[in-house]
Formats: sequence, structure tokens, C-alpha cells
Amino acid sequence: MNANPETKRNIKGLTLEQLTALMSEIGEKPFHARQIFQWMYQKGVRDFQQMTNLSTDLRKRLSESFLLSAVTLKTQEASRIDETVKYLFEMADGLFVESVYMVEAKRVTVCLSTMVGCPIGCSYCATGMMGTKRNLTAGEIADQLTLINSFVKKPVTNVVFMGMGEPFLNYENVISAANILNNELGSAVAAKKITISTCGIVPAIYRFADEEHRFKLAVSLNAADDTKRNELIPINRKYPLNDLMTAIKYYTRKSKRRVTFEYILIKGFNDSSEDARRIVSLLGSLPCKLNLIPYNENEHFGYRQPDETVVNRFIREVYQAPFTVTVRRSKGSDISAACGQLYIRERKKNE
Ligand code: SF4
Repeated sequence: MNANPETKRNIKGLTLEQLTALMSEIGEKPFHARQIFQWMYQKGVRDFQQMTNLSTDLRKRLSESFLLSAVTLKTQEASRIDETVKYLFEMADGLFVESVYMVEAKRVTVCLSTMVGCPIGCSYCATGMMGTKRNLTAGEIADQLTLINSFVKKPVTNVVFMGMGEPFLNYENVISAANILNNELGSAVAAKKITISTCGIVPAIYRFADEEHRFKLAVSLNAADDTKRNELIPINRKYPLNDLMTAIKYYTRKSKRRVTFEYILIKGFNDSSEDARRIVSLLGSLPCKLNLIPYNENEHFGYRQPDETVVNRFIREVYQAPFTVTVRRSKGSDISAACGQLYIRERKKNE
């Protein structure tokens, strides 16, 4: 009997284990799960009829009972100064999310969104201005990468969950998507090249540590004292630096992995010698990497990028610390590649 289209279950987003369980549930051989998984996440097909190594009967059965919902490309913008491309994707319910594709030598990174909008409301982030619409499903998250890989010549080697949304507030779907992308029948991105970046959701950091995932963890630090961090990342009031650092120490001890701290350098706000000293004292001998990112100026916010001499002085000041320090220059600065900005522009065009 055919399922009502309204009540059909969407199988895009199921992990290989979940698909295998589904095959048993409907009385099909488990190996079909591997075939369907590969069609969905590696070949990116949009219709069960395109799964040509399945029998006609099974394809018909799947179409009658299940949905294969997918995201589609709404628009894209390519940088003229480097190979960065920013994509705006539309989902089945008409909402949009952004993803950014960046190339640096052999490393090809895609920055994926995990929510439409974001409830955190960081004061430097365009996504935070939108409020929250909803979490993305694991399928919608994984689809962003599958689609991008179908557009580009250099396939994605690295994934960072740092687009629209706070990944740890959509924990289950983000972990499922990471597992799908990591699977050799999916996009086959190595676990150590998949990074989940959080603004500091403390309970989720403990959960991530306890579940022993092999993906990397990054934390947006952006200020090494609570007063400034409260201003930039309002959830710091709920999870202040002391609690955050305790959770991160727990994670590094348990996982034996280091954490990456992202620090956006903002002119006259968090770029002083005192700020540098605070970072060194806060991170101390923690196994970590500090990634300094000079602020990418845009029309929505009053923050400015520090002058080059200030950035260099700041680097020298934190360089003496025992942890690794790197500097990330913004990619695709001519297309405002920071998350949320293409979305806002597109929405204004449609208003
Ligand atoms: S920076 Fe991240 S956590 Fe903060 S508002 Fe933007 S999307 Fe949300």
C-alpha cells in the first residue's frame, strides 16, 4: 500500500547503521543499505529511480514509502581574488542556508551550516541577526557537501561546521552528518579533517568527550575575559570562561586531542598587549592551537580590522606561549565570505 506523501518518511539523513536497520525492518537484504547510502551521499541522486543497481521492484517500493528530500542551489558567488565560492542553498520548505568553499594549496575546505539562523546572537555575526528558524536535518547538512563536490573540480578534503548555526545546539544531526561525510561510501572525508566549531556550549563539550568521537573540536574564544566575551558571545553569561575551560580540559584529557581556539582580532577591542597576556595565561600549557583571525570588515557591524602592525605585535606577544599559533587571513573577502551575509543580501533582494 502506498504511503500518503504527507506522512512519507524522509530517508535522506540516515546513517549507514540506520539504513541497515531500515532494510531489516522492511524485510530487504542489508547490503541494499550500502547501495542506497552511496547513491544518496556520494553520487547525490535525487530520485530512487536513479538508483540503477537496485531492482525495479525495490526502487518502486522505496518511492512509494519514502522521501528523498534534497537541497538545491539557489545562487552562488565566486571570488575574483581567490578560489573561494559561496553557495546559497534552498531546502524543501523554501528556507535558505549558506556554505563556503575555500582552497588553500592542497587543502580544500567547506564550511557547512547546521541551522537556519542562530539563537546565540554573537555581536559580530550576520547569522545572529536573523533569529532562529530551525535546525537542519543530517541530510540537509550532508547534502551541502555532496552538491558542492558535484560542482567543483577540486573535491573537498576538509570540513568545518562553522557556517550558519551553533552545531552543538543541533548535536545529534551534526554528529550523524559528520558520520555520513566520514563514511567511505559517502564523501570519505577523514575524521581528523572534520572539525566541529562551537561558541562554547559546555554540556555538549562533556557529551562530545564522553562519546569519544574522532572529529576535531574548535572553540570560538574571541576574548580571554568574561566582560569582553559577554559582549561578543552572549551565551558566555550562561557558560563563562571558567566553566568553559574546565570542560575543555576534561575533553583534552579524555580524548588526548588538542583543541583549536579561534580568536577574531577586533581593532581596539581585543587586540591589546593585555589581551595577548590574558590569552597566554588562560590557555597556559593546555594542548591546543590558537588561530588568530583579523576581523573581516563588512557593512553590518561597526567593528574594524586591526592595522597590520598591531596584528604582527599581537602575534609576537602570543608566540612565546607553549601552544601553536596560526593566523588565518580571510578567504574571499571580496564576496563577504563570513556566514549569513549572502543570505541577508538575497533576502533583501526578495523583499
Ligand atoms: S558566530 Fe556562530 S554561534 Fe555566533 S551567532 Fe553566528 S552562527 Fe551563531
